[in-house]
Amino acid sequence: MQSIMPIKSVEYDHPKAGLSCTAQAWARAPETPSADERSELKDKIRRLLKEREAVLVAHYYVDADLQDLAEETGGCVSDSLEMARFGRDHPARTLVVAGVRFMGETAKILSPQKRILMPDLDATCSLDLGCPADEFAAFCDAHPDRTVVVYANTSAAVKARADWMVTSSIGLDIVAHLHAQGKKILWAPDRHLGGYIQKKTGADMLLWQGSCLVHDEFKGVELDLLKADYPDAKVLVHPESPANVVALADVVGSTTQLINAAQTMDATTFIVATDNGILHKMRIAAPGKHFIEAPTAGNSATCKSCAHCPWMAMNGLRNLAAVLENGNNEVFVDPEIGKLAVRSIDRMLDFAAAKKARALPTGELAQEAALFSGVGPA
Ligand code: SF4
Repeated sequence: MQSIMPIKSVEYDHPKAGLSCTAQAWARAPETPSADERSELKDKIRRLLKEREAVLVAHYYVDADLQDLAEETGGCVSDSLEMARFGRDHPARTLVVAGVRFMGETAKILSPQKRILMPDLDATCSLDLGCPADEFAAFCDAHPDRTVVVYANTSAAVKARADWMVTSSIGLDIVAHLHAQGKKILWAPDRHLGGYIQKKTGADMLLWQGSCLVHDEFKGVELDLLKADYPDAKVLVHPESPANVVALADVVGSTTQLINAAQTMDATTFIVATDNGILHKMRIAAPGKHFIEAPTAGNSATCKSCAHCPWMAMNGLRNLAAVLENGNNEVFVDPEIGKLAVRSIDRMLDFAAAKKARALPTGELAQEAALFSGVGPA
């Protein structure tokens, strides 16, 4: 059984959050259906996916039922890099993206001819909210000598202003590659991930000061105390977490890299510092192992997420069945913005494909910069 922490509803205080504050997101998160309704909804979703010739693409942080449905119906459950790639390459004309808004937009940018549906179009992300396109453009204009690298968790308009888009699974390699070419980087929006990559690569990086409200809440002091209670446990940390939490990690990586670590490491107990939605997949990948959520609560903590993203929680069986039935909640991206944004995403996908072709372990790419000289002009 996945342990459930009580959720304290505290408004997300970004001035531009408006209707998307966490209190309202939690209020919109669907209640768990009864066992009978759950079974009916799952049958209905399986049937509608077939009838609509649609495929379900889900993130590791959404409800476990949605993850299971995606896998059993031929869709995919994965991190945002694989979601983007899978959606682009799958022949289905309709993609249903269970995740947050920027994931639906990325799917639309990569596949403008396809219909992209989402269970709730108001499911957003504190990183996206914290990086408004107009302010970001002004920041870029003020630093024209820098190569602009943005994290996937941004709006289409921010991606359109970027030279490269990266995800957490490949950001380190891409920045190492650019650094090896002598480029100076402007990075947005996550300050923790940017700081981690800067430290690992030594690149000259100017950082936008955004953060993920889920990972920002992990507490280094409390994690240290928990480690003392479980001396044999290995600590798995997503690099959107604060530096003092990353410093306590045995493995730092993207969601997929953390799942792989849980599966392949000898340890039987793991403390996990990322959204607790990932524990479902970890338990499937590593049966018999024990997973403990890293602490988000300390003496002065105001828990807005308690290790689960309020916007990911807006995806449920009922609203997934509803969009398949009525075709509502379609994602649209301004075609002109889409044409600009696709360049930064394609660069990353080309880079990832080249890396896979060479099957180089992480870290060796910096020395292989010549290999990627044809990937793109940025
Ligand atoms: S978990 Fe964090 S980074 Fe992911 S969608 Fe939620 S707020 Fe954004």
